[in-house]
Amino acid sequence: MIETSDIKKIYKMGSEEVRALKSVSISVNKGEYVAFMGPSGSGKSTLMNIIGCLDTPTAGTYILNEKDVSDMSENELAEIRNKEIGFVFQTFNLLPRASCLENVALPLIYAGYNKSDREEKAFQALKNVGLADRVHHRPNELSGGQRQRVAIARALVNDPSIILADEPTGNLDTKTSYSIMELFHELHQKGNTIIMVTHEDDIAHYAHRVIRLRDGLVETDEINPNPTRAQVVQIEE
Ligand code: ATP
Ligand code: MG
Repeated sequence: MIETSDIKKIYKMGSEEVRALKSVSISVNKGEYVAFMGPSGSGKSTLMNIIGCLDTPTAGTYILNEKDVSDMSENELAEIRNKEIGFVFQTFNLLPRASCLENVALPLIYAGYNKSDREEKAFQALKNVGLADRVHHRPNELSGGQRQRVAIARALVNDPSIILADEPTGNLDTKTSYSIMELFHELHQKGNTIIMVTHEDDIAHYAHRVIRLRDGLVETDEINPNPTRAQVVQIEE
């Protein structure tokens, strides 16, 4: 369960302040599938970073699974991230010099797995996103869609209960986008909590609830009564 109460986020840039989140109170239950929408600069990534324990709010409280994480130390936050959260970033954040396998295995180092277990799990995660034959490629040797799938494999390798994806289909062709929606559908069916940010209405329509942000505030928060059903599509290599 994710619960933010009157969260504010102010970025200080020298003498200037950016009020990225003015007051955001939302709750997302375990197993929900939610899309965040809203114009560029409305605070979506800022909110995702806070929910994902990559950042803390300037004011307000954030309760994650009954724990108040608003004032936790970086070490405590890191532990929660490693255990609970899989994050797909807006800019893939892959290490350019590392292979796909090494990129995907990275979170497992922090989780304390030995090398052969890491490689086995990373291989499985890559296989699950259709990249079993690309494990030794580096990110710059892959297409945009393939890189995005590596980022998703890395987010899922630890079997996190909460998956946060910032524009998971940004820059992808329609077919690859659908295959990612299919993957999210399966994760949702398995009971994972999913929150994704998207600009695209037809992608948001896969989610069961849509929260729109505007100028650092929640504009609307609505159940989608008839979410798009993910179709099985063949991933092309
Ligand atoms: P987009 O759709 O373009 O990704 P967004 O809704 O994700 O936009 P955020 O990245 O959350 O928007 O940014 C919200 C506001 O906070 C913007 O005005 C942005 O310029 C500002 N901002 C974001 N990150 C920082 C930072 N690290 N330092 C200073 N200002 C920031
Ligand atoms: Mg963003």
